[in-house]
Amino acid sequence: MSDKDELKELHPEGEEPDEKEEQFESFCYICRRPESKVEKLIRLQGNFCICSDCMQKTFDGMQNAGFNINDMMKDGHMPNISMINLSDMNFMQPKRQKLKRKKEAKKPAFDLKKIPAPHVIKARLDEYVVGQEYAKKVMSVAVYNHYKRVATDHMDDIDIEKSNMLMIGPTGCGKTYLVQTLARLLDVPLAITDATSLTEAGYIGDDIESVVSKLLTAAGNDVDRAETGIIFIDEIDKIAKKKNTNQRDVSGESVQQGMLKLLEGAEIEVPVGASSKNAMVPMTTVNTRNILFICGGAFPELEDIIKERLNKQASIGFMGDLKDKYDKEENLLQKVTVEDVKKFGMIPEFVGRLPILFSLEALTEDMLVRILTEPKNAILKQYEKLLALDEVKLDFTEEAIRCVAKKAKEKKIGARALRAIIEEFMLDIMYEIPKDAEIGQVTITEDYIEKKGGPLITMRGTGEVPVSERSVAI
Ligand code: ADP
Repeated sequence: MSDKDELKELHPEGEEPDEKEEQFESFCYICRRPESKVEKLIRLQGNFCICSDCMQKTFDGMQNAGFNINDMMKDGHMPNISMINLSDMNFMQPKRQKLKRKKEAKKPAFDLKKIPAPHVIKARLDEYVVGQEYAKKVMSVAVYNHYKRVATDHMDDIDIEKSNMLMIGPTGCGKTYLVQTLARLLDVPLAITDATSLTEAGYIGDDIESVVSKLLTAAGNDVDRAETGIIFIDEIDKIAKKKNTNQRDVSGESVQQGMLKLLEGAEIEVPVGASSKNAMVPMTTVNTRNILFICGGAFPELEDIIKERLNKQASIGFMGDLKDKYDKEENLLQKVTVEDVKKFGMIPEFVGRLPILFSLEALTEDMLVRILTEPKNAILKQYEKLLALDEVKLDFTEEAIRCVAKKAKEKKIGARALRAIIEEFMLDIMYEIPKDAEIGQVTITEDYIEKKGGPLITMRGTGEVPVSERSVAI
């Protein structure tokens, strides 16, 4: 067989051999492991490759056989090896090799036309996040402006300010969920960190720059993608300035100080493929200028600060009699100002670098009912789908849904309570129903949630069957 014929066999479909060759991995001619599986592949004359392990074994073998490698190297020749004509070993090339993993096509950076308009961003958020109308509106505009700024970088002298955000809202009201949904819709990498784990560099805890490292990991180590990503720092209220302390505040004010340059935009040295810096890990530089920072927190005593300010304003002059007017007001957080946040313990430079300040509402019972049923991936829809795979229809009565929402509201942890409550009573259903192939429909009633009775079961092709006559006991 001529060389040409052999190449044809190796590269059918008339493709250019060189082009095709690039898709294959080289491999060790002795142990046959591909390049991705060995530590190092040494390329020798005639396209002959050998891995460092096999090379070492060969030398060890020669040494055992009485050859002194050092002497041979000194002479400048290796008698036995020079006898082999490496190009004669081409026949060892297997007909099939492992395909190299294709490199993913690089996505273009944001281009002005592709940034969805704020109303489009908000409409998409509406599909997943219930309520929080004001927050969704503010975020849509801020994100739109931010990525417009990224796209027009250095186009003229007018520098558009960064749209970093500070969101305030009680626990479980959807802060993290909003950011996650936003990042997914925009297809940008997202890193979520807890401010409580951050400490000033050099102290026990994560150093502040580790948040950038997390983002780089989320971007698959693609620096360009990471530089246009989003970093969400939760529990930001936990790094408020400590009051009345003489000790060094390494996890409070110092962390705020340390974050300033990050929020503004700085070149940060981060390890690639590892969370901590050490001599063995390669480093790369990430510029945070175009990274969108969103900080969130519950700011528990902020309501008192706002109330105090409002009451003080109301008590001035003739309005004195309305002094306690704000004591019973719900959603006082909506009236937050930069001054209140500073009073809470955030340093002015820090708040100044988060120009978009807004609050989220506490979830009401009605909102919880909607969260259960309306979003695209609402929790009840997920269970309905799971049972539909067993060809069983799952139904919830309106009263049952409201009962779940009421119970969740009592727990005071926002929408987070919903899943816990539902999982508790769905466990038995998910366990028992697949046992009986005759069951066609399950209806969850208020009584079942209140543990006063069982769910309604309908058998296939028949009517409803009372709980006592069912073949499975729930
Ligand atoms: P937090 O405000 O404490 O960050 P999360 O965003 O983590 O709360 O909310 C917890 C879960 O509750 C989310 O994963 C989401 O499923 C649900 N959730 C909270 N708020 C909403 C909302 N407004 N609309 C839809 N789901 C929500």
